[in-house]
Amino acid sequence: MDRSYLIKPQIGGKLPEISFGRGVYLYGADGRDYLDGSSGAITCSIGHGIKEVAEAMHTQAKKISFVYRSQFTSAAAEALAAKIAEWLPGDLNHSFFVNSGSEAAETAMKMAIQYWQEKGEPSKTIVLSRWRSYHGITMGALSLSGFPERRERFQYHMSGVPDIAPPYCARCPFGKVYPECGLMCAEDLERSIKRRGRQNIAAFIAEPIVGAAGACLVPPAGYYEKIREICTANEILFIADEVMTGMGRTGNVLGIQHWDCQPDLAVLGKGLGAGYAPIAAVVATDRVMEAFLQGSRSIMSGHTYSANPQSAAASLAVLQYIENNHLILNAEQQGDRLKTMITELDEPFIGDVRGKGLLIGIELVQDRASMKPFLKKQAAGARLIELAFKNGLLLYPASAGVEGGDGDAVIAAPPLTINDRELAEFMKRFTKACSAFRAEQR
Ligand code: PLP
Repeated sequence: MDRSYLIKPQIGGKLPEISFGRGVYLYGADGRDYLDGSSGAITCSIGHGIKEVAEAMHTQAKKISFVYRSQFTSAAAEALAAKIAEWLPGDLNHSFFVNSGSEAAETAMKMAIQYWQEKGEPSKTIVLSRWRSYHGITMGALSLSGFPERRERFQYHMSGVPDIAPPYCARCPFGKVYPECGLMCAEDLERSIKRRGRQNIAAFIAEPIVGAAGACLVPPAGYYEKIREICTANEILFIADEVMTGMGRTGNVLGIQHWDCQPDLAVLGKGLGAGYAPIAAVVATDRVMEAFLQGSRSIMSGHTYSANPQSAAASLAVLQYIENNHLILNAEQQGDRLKTMITELDEPFIGDVRGKGLLIGIELVQDRASMKPFLKKQAAGARLIELAFKNGLLLYPASAGVEGGDGDAVIAAPPLTINDRELAEFMKRFTKACSAFRAEQR
C-alpha cells in the first residue's frame, strides 16, 4: 500500500513494519532484525511470541471474551486479582482493572478523593505530585504530571499540583549532596502540604523510580521512608505509580519495595499485560477498601472494557510465565550486569548511568566532568536512538538535565528474559551506536 490511513506519531512519516517477534528480537517485513532493548515502551517484559500467553488467550476467547463488569464477573478477572494480591506486598489486595496506565493513574486520583469523601472529609481533594514525573496522557493523569512539553498546550485543564522537587541526586535541585542534604527533596512534600493545608490534600502520587521524565531517577536510601512518614503524619494517601516499575521490571515485584514504604494505592500498567493485551489496574489496601465498604460501596469510575476477561487471561499467563521462569531474579541480575557494562564503556558523553534491575537510565552530556547538558535543540537522545536503531537496537527516549531547560537521556529496558548471549549482542550494537554518536560530536 503506498497510502496509509493510520495516524502515526509523526504525521505523514513512515515507519518500518514488523512481521513477527521471538523473545527479545523483532523481525521486520524487510528482513531486518531488532534487539528490543526498550521492550517497546518498557512494556513487553516477557519478550515476544510467548506461546503460553497466546494459548491462554485462545482458550479464553473460545469461552468468553467480554462480560460487562456491572452484570457479571469472570473466572479470569477473579484469578488475576487474586494473583496480584498474592504478588503485591502487604495488604495491597484489591484490584480495579482498566485499560491503560493513564486510566489507572487517573482512577487512583479519583479513588483517593472519593476515599476522603467516604471518611467524611470532602475538603481533601488536591493530589500532589513532583516535577519530573509522568502519570499519563489523559487530562487528569496529565495534570498530575510534571512534564512541561506534554502539558503546556492544555494548561487550562490542568488541576494537579506537580510542584514537589524530584529526587535527582546527579543534579540536586537544592545543590546539595547526599546524605548531608538531609533529604530536602522529601521534606519539600511537607512544605507543599503546609502551604496548601493538609485538610485540602487527598494524596501524593510518585513513580518510585522516575521513568520517562527523569531517565530512571533512583531516590537515595531513606527517601520513601520519609515520604511515608510525612503522608501518614498529615493523613494523606500515598499512591505509588508503578506503571513502568511494576511487575518485576526493577528486580522486585514493585519498585517501591526497594525502600521500606507501603503505598495505600499502587498503579499498575505496561508489564501487567506485557504487550499481549491492554490492561492496567489500581490496587488498594484493605484499609482503603474498608472506607468504600463502610461508605457508598462503589467506585465512581470504570470503563466498558474494565476487567475484560480476554485481557485478564493474557495478564494471568504473563504473570505465570514470570513466576515459572524466575524472571524477577533475572531482571535483578542481568540489570546489574547491563548497568555495569554500560558504565564501563567510559563514553565521554555518558554523564550518569542509573536505575534498578532492567530499567536503566543513561544521561547524555556534553562534558562528563561538569555534567554540561546537551542543548535541547541538539536532540542528542533522539540521535543516539536513531543510531542504535540503524544498528538494530531499540532504546527508549527520556527527559533529563537542568530544570525547564537543556539536557537529554535514553532508557535501556530489554525484556526480563534477556540472557548472557543477548546481553552481549545488546552491548555490541550499543557500542557501535555510541562510536557513531561520538564521531559526530567531534
Ligand atoms: N505512569 C507512568 C509511570 C508511565 O510511565 C506511563 C507511561 O509511560 C503512564 C503512567 C501512562 O501509561 P499509558 O501510556 O499506558 O497510558
